[in-house]
Amino acid sequence: MSEALVSPPEKALIEDCVHCGFCLPACPTYRSWGLEADSPRGRIDLMKGLAEGAIALDESVVTHFDQCLGCMACLTACPSGVRYDLLIESTRAQIETQVKRSPFERALRAMIFAIFPYPQRLLRLAPLMNLATALRLQRVVPGGALLQKIDIRAASRPLPECTSAQGPARARVGLLAGCVQRVMFPGVNAATVRVLSAEGCDVIVPERAGCCGALSLHSGRAAEAKAFARALIVQFEDAQVDAVIVNVAGCGSAMKQYAELFADEPEWAARARAFSAKVRDVSEFLADIEPRAERKPIEATVAYHDACHLAHAQRVRQEPRDLLCGIPGLKLVEIPDGDQCCGSAGTYNLLEPASAREIGLRKVANVLATGAGIVASGNPGCSMQMQALLRERGANVQIVHPIELVDAAINGRRIGQP
Ligand code: SF4
Ligand code: SF4
Repeated sequence: MSEALVSPPEKALIEDCVHCGFCLPACPTYRSWGLEADSPRGRIDLMKGLAEGAIALDESVVTHFDQCLGCMACLTACPSGVRYDLLIESTRAQIETQVKRSPFERALRAMIFAIFPYPQRLLRLAPLMNLATALRLQRVVPGGALLQKIDIRAASRPLPECTSAQGPARARVGLLAGCVQRVMFPGVNAATVRVLSAEGCDVIVPERAGCCGALSLHSGRAAEAKAFARALIVQFEDAQVDAVIVNVAGCGSAMKQYAELFADEPEWAARARAFSAKVRDVSEFLADIEPRAERKPIEATVAYHDACHLAHAQRVRQEPRDLLCGIPGLKLVEIPDGDQCCGSAGTYNLLEPASAREIGLRKVANVLATGAGIVASGNPGCSMQMQALLRERGANVQIVHPIELVDAAINGRRIGQP
């Protein structure tokens, strides 16, 4: 495992911070509470204090790190190029190995990591989750923020392992069906396959390619992330594809980081580098090829939501917008303060529900200010978080993945249809 990700944060990385404070207004938790210790600069200072032995990893220090969303808005805002992503991931790995959490926290974390990365387990729980959703228990049960109706029939139907290109093939691509995405949003995966095929790609979906390890990596569970990453690398090597396509911002961000994850392991480093080099968000991939399939008009006003792990972590901002603007009739509008996280942030809305809600309510107020009837979001966690809060406010706004709109324009499909 790369030292950068499992050892205490490197001193040199900490010292890259020059305390300018440019990152403070970008940080959602600093905006919520105005506390230095809940800002990027304050958290880096805490890391410094820990590294120098000036402070201990006690409950209050751990809380400031737990309250960080890992949204990476500070990466974008920082003019000095501070690698906050590496700093927080290695800090979280330290916490994971050194801190004994309360029995409730341990149980909640154990439940999250025993269920969400495993699609078959998630699927077995789907009837129970649908019942809880029907009974509107979202705000009562732990993890309720992620409750939404699951289309069990669609989620149980695997995608074809190989879908041929329509017309002459111009690429052979692999698609990650994933874990949460596969069960909660099977329609997004199906739409991705149809669009890629219509655009001249043979699409391979390795059935056994499940969780990419993003949830684990972003929560400091580095060994677990590494095990998932190894399995995925093998699956896509066997598939012999030109590109590995991903339609989940958090997964794409983690998969592009495999090169760093395995940097110190000679037997995996080169394979991880080769894999990461092939990873493309679906919008990135489609932006690189000349559109071939005709787009029929969609007369709608659509607000595009920048998922943090796409915009800040992968710096993919323009491509999804270009993809949507390629649909005749579609009017794209910007969400005010669009660089701000929606509060979902992987497992954050499960582990820090009050803060996630506060940040999420700011986001949906900005969404509603656009007047758009549709929001396009490239990350399932963001979609669930925003949909739940919009529903609570009685707003009739539909959240879709950008690829579902492209699919509707190319194939005339109803949005959300698996
Ligand atoms: S990752 Fe997000 S929440 Fe954490 S310090 Fe940076 S801006 Fe703040
Ligand atoms: S913007 Fe960068 S250098 Fe400035 S305080 Fe924030 S992390 Fe440090």
